[in-house]
Amino acid sequence: MKLYHALRSIGRFRPVFDFGEREVAHWFPGHMAKGLKQMRASLKNVDCIIEIHDARISFFNAHIPFSGRNPLFQESLDVRPHLLILNKMDLADLSSKQRILKQLGKNGVRNVLFTDCLKQRDDNVKKLVPMVTQLIENKPRFNRDENTNYCLMVIGVPNVGKSSLINSLRRTNLKKGRASRVGGEPGITKAVLTKIQVCERPIIHLLDTPGVLPPKIESVETGMKLALCGTILDHLVGEDIIADYLLYSLNRLEKFSYVEKYDLKEPNDDIQHVLKRIAVKLGKTQRVKAITGVGNITITVPNYTAAAYDFIRAFRKGELGQVMLD
Ligand code: GDP
Repeated sequence: MKLYHALRSIGRFRPVFDFGEREVAHWFPGHMAKGLKQMRASLKNVDCIIEIHDARISFFNAHIPFSGRNPLFQESLDVRPHLLILNKMDLADLSSKQRILKQLGKNGVRNVLFTDCLKQRDDNVKKLVPMVTQLIENKPRFNRDENTNYCLMVIGVPNVGKSSLINSLRRTNLKKGRASRVGGEPGITKAVLTKIQVCERPIIHLLDTPGVLPPKIESVETGMKLALCGTILDHLVGEDIIADYLLYSLNRLEKFSYVEKYDLKEPNDDIQHVLKRIAVKLGKTQRVKAITGVGNITITVPNYTAAAYDFIRAFRKGELGQVMLD
């Protein structure tokens, strides 16, 4: 595997990714704006905002101060206690965690937790209630001693793990099972605001938001990173390009475990070649009719779309290694 690292330096891999003529304009469906309005309306009852992001794009998060993200939220984020969760830490390469925290601190974000919401017992999730309680109680405006029922709101882009966090909080604090539906595709949390209890002492409720904070996409590349993390519906971006961007990223980050996983001889920067290997390895081939000079024959061709799907899914499950995409 070590030999592979030398390949990069001799220019085997693309130094930059060619996004062609792509634009980000159509990657977000219109229902998100409606969700935002609804969320803003319920914010007045919220004591603390929990903003959840994908730990694999921590640097991106760290460089964009949150209050500046969305004008609809600016005011609410400014006055309310605010906790930042960097979720899916199990999938992230956190060797630069200290740098991330420092950068966040510079941008005024000091209350940060890294979490893995799928873990049965996550010590970091356990810290959430004490942190939130302290944040709320230290904020004079919210120091309402006659009322110790706190209401929190979880916000974040689709598929970042909002429902999973709610479930994890219930598991941790109430020893109860699922309350929130968890979906593998963005946008499954429907536009209903329900209150879910996550703690008994103090009594803490969460508003299960429609779950959609449209990400601020400043470039096609940022959009592609979000797509890779499952924030944008795959078909809106295109599985083929997401798979290609994934390959480009893995090579750039020198994460070569895909080579062994898919029985390749060595790292390769050509997505067609890699997808073909994946299709063959997984038996994802299709039989198609071809007309030749001597009549119709049936030939077997790789199913590139199925292979691309598998490649992307494997990455999202962490099977291709932990990454920091920024
Ligand atoms: P929501 O749309 O923000 O509510 O996201 P979900 O809670 O439905 O989660 C989206 C996907 O991410 C699901 O497939 C979850 O199983 C997965 N997921 C959530 N949290 C974590 C985590 O900490 N680690 C990993 N590996 N996957 C997670």
